[in-house]
Amino acid sequence: MRPRLFVISGPSGAGKGTLVARVRNRRSLLDVAISCTTRRPRKGEVHGRDYYFLSDSEFLAREDAGEFIESAYVHGHRYGTLKSEVERIMNQGNSCILEIDVQGGTSVKDLFPNTVLIFVETPNLDDLEERLRKRKSESDKDIELRLNNAAKEMVLSSTYDEIVVNDDIERATNELLIILQAYENEET
Ligand code: 5GP
Repeated sequence: MRPRLFVISGPSGAGKGTLVARVRNRRSLLDVAISCTTRRPRKGEVHGRDYYFLSDSEFLAREDAGEFIESAYVHGHRYGTLKSEVERIMNQGNSCILEIDVQGGTSVKDLFPNTVLIFVETPNLDDLEERLRKRKSESDKDIELRLNNAAKEMVLSSTYDEIVVNDDIERATNELLIILQAYENEET
């Protein structure tokens, strides 16, 4: 097994977080890099576990200091992948998952061409809207923004190496586990 860098992207509400959590529960030698963001924490989110929640000025200072391998403006907030997180995980000999948007995924692939880009999507946009509304963590305006961005992201999914349709969480988890393993076992 060779540790790999995986990017998991997909529209907000497609179930990326749940899928990644399930995969982590069923596998060792795998960790998720914690990103920085300027968005406010949602109910139940913890600083240092879900994200490093930063002010705009803190974020910009860390960006100026070259701490991010990529950063992007997503749904009106800044997000960035910490170089130190990726190094921490990969230096332990584990595969690293970045749960980031399509702009970020594309930047990481440019920087590290060996990165595997995986796109998670729902069978259609109606399902996505239903999930976002059920989550009750975003305002109507924010849901509209996330749905508009979803349509754009889905067009860009053609540049990704793998697409997982999250029609059934158990099936999608198994598919993702198989994909990760296949790349880790790939001959080079
Ligand atoms: P959320 O606010 O729902 O946690 O995340 C919104 C979007 O930002 C999601 O598509 C998520 O994958 C993406 N995101 C999270 N962290 C990063 C990051 O470090 N870089 C980039 N480019 N996108 C990120």
